[in-house]
Amino acid sequence: MIILAHKICLDPNNIEATYFAKACGVARFAYNWALVEWKRLYDNGEKVNEGILRKRLNAIKHTEFPWMSEVTKCAPQFAIKDGLNKAFKNFFAKRAEFPKFKKKGIKDSFSLSNDQFKIDGDKIKIPNLGWVRMTEELRFSGKIIGAVVSRKADRWFVSVQVEIQEPTPIHTALSENQAIGVDLGVKDLATLSNGAKITGAKPHKALLTRIRRLNQSLSRKQGAKKGEKKSKNFKKAQARLSKLHARIADIRNNETHKLTDMLSNNYSVIGIEDLNVSGMAKNHKLARAVLDMSFFEFRRQLEYKSKIKGGHVILADRFYPSSKTCSCCGYKNDALTLSARQWTCPDCGISHDRDINAAINLKNYAVSYMVSACGELVETVTSMKQELNFTTA
Ligand SMILES: [Zn+2]
Repeated sequence: MIILAHKICLDPNNIEATYFAKACGVARFAYNWALVEWKRLYDNGEKVNEGILRKRLNAIKHTEFPWMSEVTKCAPQFAIKDGLNKAFKNFFAKRAEFPKFKKKGIKDSFSLSNDQFKIDGDKIKIPNLGWVRMTEELRFSGKIIGAVVSRKADRWFVSVQVEIQEPTPIHTALSENQAIGVDLGVKDLATLSNGAKITGAKPHKALLTRIRRLNQSLSRKQGAKKGEKKSKNFKKAQARLSKLHARIADIRNNETHKLTDMLSNNYSVIGIEDLNVSGMAKNHKLARAVLDMSFFEFRRQLEYKSKIKGGHVILADRFYPSSKTCSCCGYKNDALTLSARQWTCPDCGISHDRDINAAINLKNYAVSYMVSACGELVETVTSMKQELNFTTA
């Protein structure tokens, strides 16, 4: 059994978002209340643990904190049972400092136990609230363990934990014809070492004009300047804009999943580049395209999918010159510019498609990595080579 978590962006209306904020507030209050109580009981020489504190809170909350029952009972319970308890455990194990009070706006979240919510397609049902729209469906099928609702900037997410049967790995033997190199691109979503190019829809191109227009109109509205009171129209435009961004993220996410499904199902050894995305994003021309293709998400998906299927993802060092090296003779073409899509090797004369050549190099890198990872002994390498059905030129 393995537990996987799928974090899904929520699309709450105002009432729902208000409920979420309130539930986070209740969780935070319960955490801080329990922290004070913990200290008090401890100082009095009384026995204290999370169970005692939850019981105490339950006994007084209806009379002292009646507003707590406006949200799911899980919010205060888990804040103590999981949150504060874990903080103390980490403290006692010397992994963390003494627990501090939680502040509003910092890591706002609340938890739900699996009997307190339901998922149906792209909707989640939450106690005292009803059905809330999710921007995508849960990707894993299995026993749902629990969920955490959290806020990041102005967006709400639900991370659903699912226990799934550990699948029988589909890749049991490594063979070179099950190896592939993937060059993630700016022009194409990905180029494979077998020559295939995966174009992918470019959601940004179609929607970018609308985004730009919305951004412009947003900057003209009252509330755009720092310190200015945000007008109703400003908030409306802001909401429209974030919806548009969420739509783009959806399209992108689906494509990445399709590609990583295909790769992890069909290949046992996959070579990719360990891209320095933050470095690339500084380059203006590349920035949008890089974010478009969401390299990090691609890698994350590919790694966990390959792992459960018995495959291996090999990251080539970010300084590995996959584009500049001739995959045929090994010549390193330092004169290759970023814009050159085709090039001819001055050493062996072969002409290359830039991306296919890079993908082939990444495949070779991954295969030789797998070979050397299995031992430095020559004999081992030789036998491994036979196992891998190496074609030695
Ligand atoms: Zn060459």
